Amino acid sequence: MCRHAAWLGAPRPLASLIHEPGHGLLRQAHAPRLQRYGTVNADGFGMGWYDVCRAEPVRYRRTIPIWADANLTDIARVARSGCLLAAVRSATAGMPIEESATAPFADGPWLLSHNGRVAREAVRELAEDAESSCDSAWLAAAVFTRRRMGDPLGEALVEVVTHAGVKDPDARLNLLACDGRSIAATAWGDTLFLHLGDHPRDGVLMASEPLDDRPGWQAVPDRTLVLAAADGVHVQPL
Ligand code: GLN
Repeated sequence: MCRHAAWLGAPRPLASLIHEPGHGLLRQAHAPRLQRYGTVNADGFGMGWYDVCRAEPVRYRRTIPIWADANLTDIARVARSGCLLAAVRSATAGMPIEESATAPFADGPWLLSHNGRVAREAVRELAEDAESSCDSAWLAAAVFTRRRMGDPLGEALVEVVTHAGVKDPDARLNLLACDGRSIAATAWGDTLFLHLGDHPRDGVLMASEPLDDRPGWQAVPDRTLVLAAADGVHVQPL
């Protein structure tokens, strides 16, 4: 399983998901505490953020372990926005290791990360093509197809996850997606945590596992959709 994390709220640097917290993604890449599948996340990493210049996010994806990128500390310190997403990858057996198989996947303003696995046959019929043969890239393509049909972020995730979950009962489908103004995440087969911050109006964190030992991290029940936007956080069973 990969580990992923996102922030929606007052502008922050990507380092707030990766380097700054005691158990940020940099640490989770080699010493995750709650990972059920796989032990390290060394098959690449990626991050996405929004700049005032344009609606589409900026992405940075690599196939090397996150701790091996000597340039990342500086980039993550200055890349900041009110909506952030980052992930470290442990590739599922048989999946390619290439940038195009590394989250976040992107389409228009949307970013998406997948923590889990799915039989590609279960999602191939939902999209015409994918950026990579990786199962996560096909899931992303399926979600992005719904985007182009006009689905809101949360609905697109629900459609794809419930379809894939029926077709492949062994699938693990923790998706984390954002569009610059909202975050949607599913817990389906692995852990997902939520933190509303010391001052909830500052914003919300979502992550595969807590990024630090502060009180306030809440475990999201399995088979749940979490939506965060300016009007607050909504949790609904799937
Ligand atoms: N199946 C995806 C991949 O191969 C995600 C893997 C994971 O969550 N560890 O990249």
